[in-house]
Amino acid sequence: MRINVAQLRRTEGGSERYQFSEIFAPIEMGKDMLVFHTPLEVQINLINTGKSLLVSGQANTRLAVNCSRCLREFLYNLDFEFEDEWIPAEFSSPDQEETALIFEKDEFSIDERILEHLFLHLPMRFVCSPDCKGLCVKCGADRNNTECNCTNEDIDPRLEILSKWNKGV
Ligand SMILES: [Zn+2]
Ligand SMILES: [Zn+2]
Repeated sequence: MRINVAQLRRTEGGSERYQFSEIFAPIEMGKDMLVFHTPLEVQINLINTGKSLLVSGQANTRLAVNCSRCLREFLYNLDFEFEDEWIPAEFSSPDQEETALIFEKDEFSIDERILEHLFLHLPMRFVCSPDCKGLCVKCGADRNNTECNCTNEDIDPRLEILSKWNKGV
């Protein structure tokens, strides 16, 4: 996703709109891979504020992920908004160079920045459905499909002690 601001930079108060549909290869993320099932659709609005460019927009895609409870693969809809301020190199102060987003040429890529926003909007864990029952910790059966006969669930530890005491263990 490259934007060209040659025109916009000359018009203070002016704005431009961009629309992208970008196909991304899987991205390594810790020990997992982030797999894009559909292109990343991005809408961007640029405003020349005089000293900087205000870049805001909205993006969405579908990711192929694995449920952290039952391990099944499912498609996750990711939809997020973002807003950034890009400063042209000639207006940036030395202390800004560390933290601000700076562009040097009229045309620059914003892929990296959009992916940073994307990562910030990922959930801590993917769950296929709020009531996914997950795998049985004893036999590994998918408890969404099978009722296994394991009886280790949700035993209050205090009751467990009591039941042992009752049995004289
Ligand atoms: Zn699940
Ligand atoms: Zn089980």
